Amino acid sequence: MSSYIHDTINYLKQTSPAQDEFYQAAEEVLSSLKPLLDRNPKYQKHNIIQRIVEPERQILFRVAWIDDRGNVQVNKGYRIEFNSAIGPYKGGLRFHPNVTAGTIKFLGFEQIFKNSLTGLPIGGAKGGSNFDPKGKSDNEIMRFCQSFMTELFRHIGATIDVPAGDIGVGGREIGYLYGQYKRLTGRYEGVLTGKGLNWGGSLVRTEATGYGAVYFAQNLLAERGDSLEGKVCTVSGSGNVSIYTVEKLYQVGAKPVTVSDSNGMIHDKNGIDLNLLKRVKEVERARLTRYAEQRPSAVYTPIEDYPAGRNGVWSVPCQAAFPSATQNEVSEEDAKTLLKNGCVCVSEGANMPSTQSAIDAFLASGIAYGPAKAANAGGVATSQLEMSQNASMLQWTFEEVDAKLKRIMENIYRTASQTANEFGAPGNLVLGANIAGFRKVADAMIDQGVV
Ligand code: NDP
Repeated sequence: MSSYIHDTINYLKQTSPAQDEFYQAAEEVLSSLKPLLDRNPKYQKHNIIQRIVEPERQILFRVAWIDDRGNVQVNKGYRIEFNSAIGPYKGGLRFHPNVTAGTIKFLGFEQIFKNSLTGLPIGGAKGGSNFDPKGKSDNEIMRFCQSFMTELFRHIGATIDVPAGDIGVGGREIGYLYGQYKRLTGRYEGVLTGKGLNWGGSLVRTEATGYGAVYFAQNLLAERGDSLEGKVCTVSGSGNVSIYTVEKLYQVGAKPVTVSDSNGMIHDKNGIDLNLLKRVKEVERARLTRYAEQRPSAVYTPIEDYPAGRNGVWSVPCQAAFPSATQNEVSEEDAKTLLKNGCVCVSEGANMPSTQSAIDAFLASGIAYGPAKAANAGGVATSQLEMSQNASMLQWTFEEVDAKLKRIMENIYRTASQTANEFGAPGNLVLGANIAGFRKVADAMIDQGVV
């Protein structure tokens, strides 16, 4: 490991203990920057590395709320405003019991480079809570969201910091958060994205991350004279990103055969029934066992029966894989199994779904590998399109937004691919995406002086 990476990671470990996911994300980015730093001493001269790994601001707060039985509950709230060199802070909110400061920090760090890569003027941030939405009533969700926003509102604004959804935060939660923001400030402005279509939301925002990951895979494969048409695809997760990945895969003539949740997975060799999946997950908010009960061709496997240390989804033979659930869900063993079974394309909808050794295996094999920062950037890009529509008080059509999303994903692919070529690593989009994302932010930081 180069000494600057080693020193920086050691510094992070000493000053921000117990944040393994953040060290992992930082090490991945820093390792790929070496060729850029070797060529351009200005980044070291301005001490950009030490500045960029330090969030501009970290807000930690108490969220107290009352459950349906009248008991007082307390959760932790986070908003990490990581970098505003190229635009207002932008990034989602995650509500999940495993959330820690380290989770939010890794997501916020990734967001800086992803947002830069979209070519749009947005800085990097992330937030959330260790609140578990599972099993909570609508009223409990509403009271939690109102309490969360009662602290958050003073830190955000349409040109300051614009949160969106992530795991556990979808249209319902954004609605409650927005209502409380409006009540507290009296302002009707584009302070959150992922809003309902009747009150400032953008068409295609719901679909954007999943659609974008498929558009990205199309670009990856087209470069190799290949396409998704007729390909059997595996998808993990069954939330927002997964559902619209499945939808777009059907639209481009591919066949998605798996989805999963934190209890288990479905393998449906006839292809996932999209309408049933939407009903189970978006309307009934039920588990995937409900899907299996209603679909004779579906085989349900609980996680207890997954091969040891592996994710069962990646043992299903496929030609293209779309990890769309959570971080570190593709291990080295999973990656090797995918490759052995003939997978030629991986496009990451989730954030940091592959471990470092899984990434190394994909890169060494030479398959078409689209890292999260590039492949899942369609979500935040469309959020920025929502901000643009809010600022101009217009609403664009589905076709207009979808066409813009498609163009943005193509541009991201070109930028990452050309940057990889520029630094002598053709096809290595991890390196290309990290350098391209970093360079724009770092140059802006230099232009703006030591702040
Ligand atoms: P959702 O909450 O809608 O869905 C998450 C899905 O992943 C659910 O099926 C959930 O299962 C599963 N899941 C979550 N945690 C785990 C876990 N620890 N083990 C197994 N399965 C798990 O979230 P999204 O679809 O919005 O987000 C999915 C991923 O995509 C995340 O990594 C997110 O950061 C990333 N992403 C999302 C964007 C967006 O626009 N929404 C944009 C860019 C990236 P269960 O219901 O059982 O918890």
